[in-house]
Amino acid sequence: MRFSKLRLTGFKSFVDPTDLVISDGLTGVVGPNGCGKSNLLEALRWVMGENRPTAMRGGGMEDVIFAGAATRSARNFAEVSIQIENSDRLAPAGFNDQDQIDIVRRITRDVGSAYKVNGKDVRARDVQMLFADASTGAHSPALVRQGQISELINAKPKNRRRILEEAAGISGLYQRRHEAELKLNSTEANLLRVDDVIEQLA
Ligand code: ATP
Repeated sequence: MRFSKLRLTGFKSFVDPTDLVISDGLTGVVGPNGCGKSNLLEALRWVMGENRPTAMRGGGMEDVIFAGAATRSARNFAEVSIQIENSDRLAPAGFNDQDQIDIVRRITRDVGSAYKVNGKDVRARDVQMLFADASTGAHSPALVRQGQISELINAKPKNRRRILEEAAGISGLYQRRHEAELKLNSTEANLLRVDDVIEQLA
């Protein structure tokens, strides 16, 4: 399973549809300051389910939509798609029935984000879990932001442990444990409520 193509439309400085083909081996992106190199990395993080605007260097998530330039008007939506080559059939269960996986995220002003996997509507969580189970995703330590190395050196041990957990492929399990704990808490609250009702009826 490997990324084979990234497509951006109306995402930050990439107003027209732009394809980045990711071939076998090393892919380099070079260009002058401000040409959009970091925007490409952010697009990759975003399509994998990033939900923190600050990680996109913005104040709100809609800031990723092309905001207009001297000769071009602002857009109403941004879309990023990633193509995953899965002929080795190593994708996580539930997404492993095709040789190619297409994941699309679109954000529309005043509407929010929507995701599709191979043309079918899915939740943000489904996309986040797909990548977490594949030991990658928006928070993967493989995506190195500017200034991240010095942040890491100064990080608390607990935060540094998260990087080892990502590498070990267990971050998806932590997410599921967290969700199970939330369900358990709400079930306990429901049980207390049932006890109250039974007491009132008795
Ligand atoms: P450097 O080499 O300096 O780090 P870079 O090649 O990584 O630069 P980016 O930081 O990816 O460049 O791109 C910055 C450019 O993207 C700026 O010109 C900025 O105006 C533009 N940009 C960011 N968000 C938007 C947006 N929503 N709409 C239009 N342009 C945007």
